[in-house]
Amino acid sequence: MPAMTSANQSSLADAIIQALRSVLGADKTNLHEPSFNGNEWIYLKECLDSTFVSSVGSYVDRFEKELATFTGARHAVAVVNGTAALHLALLLAGVKEGDEVLVPALTFIATANAVAYCKAVPHFVDSNQHTLGVDAGALRAWLQRTCEIRDGHCLNRQSGRIIRALVPMHTFGHPADIEALLTLADDYHLALVEDAAESLGSYKDGRHTGTIGLLGVLSFNGNKTITTGGGGAILTNDSNLARMAKHLSTTAKIPHAWQYSHDAVGYNYRMPNLNAALGCAQLEQLPGLLASKRRLYEKYRSAFAGLAGVQLFHEPPGCHSNYWLQTLVLDADMAAERDAILQATNAAGLMTRPVWTLAHQQLPYRHCPAMPLPVAESLASRIINIPSSAFLGGMDLS
Ligand SMILES: *Cc1c(COP(=O)(O)O)cnc(C)c1O
Repeated sequence: MPAMTSANQSSLADAIIQALRSVLGADKTNLHEPSFNGNEWIYLKECLDSTFVSSVGSYVDRFEKELATFTGARHAVAVVNGTAALHLALLLAGVKEGDEVLVPALTFIATANAVAYCKAVPHFVDSNQHTLGVDAGALRAWLQRTCEIRDGHCLNRQSGRIIRALVPMHTFGHPADIEALLTLADDYHLALVEDAAESLGSYKDGRHTGTIGLLGVLSFNGNKTITTGGGGAILTNDSNLARMAKHLSTTAKIPHAWQYSHDAVGYNYRMPNLNAALGCAQLEQLPGLLASKRRLYEKYRSAFAGLAGVQLFHEPPGCHSNYWLQTLVLDADMAAERDAILQATNAAGLMTRPVWTLAHQQLPYRHCPAMPLPVAESLASRIINIPSSAFLGGMDLS
């Protein structure tokens, strides 16, 4: 074979297409599709036959119990979507108007939006290249430089605002360095709320993501590991917070046989029974889906082994990831080729996507405080997500 020449730039796109095809075959392939191979039709029909399609019904209770059992959280409260779950979790964590909340710049915009819904201000923090999550060491150094503890609160000396909470996100299902972040949150009097929207089935040192902080949040949107159509959940080990989550998500209505009394400005965020029925069927298949996604990772690992210029992202040490979205990270000297690779793969019918535009660059959040973000900025220029549906790994149809 001739030595790699300067033409290796277009040939990197070709080599990536070849590696993808060796795993995926010749078919047109989407980024992520749901699988419905279990009791979905049966439970949905049961739901319609019962007429309990809305926010009262046995599937909601069952879905919550089974989620708690699967994750090991003491409580799970099902809501209409992951963004609503984040909003409620931040309110329950005590986030108030005029506060700041630390969130990664490298996240889906919902994390920052939930902060804004509380009339608080997102304060963007950098990522770690080995976890793709918040970098605990860099954040500690930043807080040491810019904040002080006053009256039991973390005060941002630059803005004069209280930093109330930290919201790490488990990117593409890979756990962030959650123990170090928990210690940091304790040291700086911050509530820790985990955005585990992408990480159902992901564990750090045997503990399920979303169950380690004060509160955690899951999403069951159509593109996530399991789906309820739209849906989300709040996880917590605190019975009082779980009760408050249910109360606030049910218009803060005081339970009573006939009277409509509400003791706070509540929200209509409860998950409908129809969606929970779908969720119960999906949860039954979760172990099989996770096994398939891991098999797909192993196939990609063989296909991309030895391909210069790009790394397939591997679960961090001590972590068991769900491999929700499979991820290529281009070497720094190949970042300029990213768009050509996206262009070529999508033109070939292989759906690939860049990571989100960093949150601090999004129009609503450009004025917000941020620490230096060198790693997030570098990662954002080099990440390419590749087809990740569970069925691509070969399914256990049990
Ligand atoms: C999907 C997702 C959400 C929001 O979930 P929805 O159910 O779509 O509202 C929040 N954060 C992250 C990181 C996500 O990927």
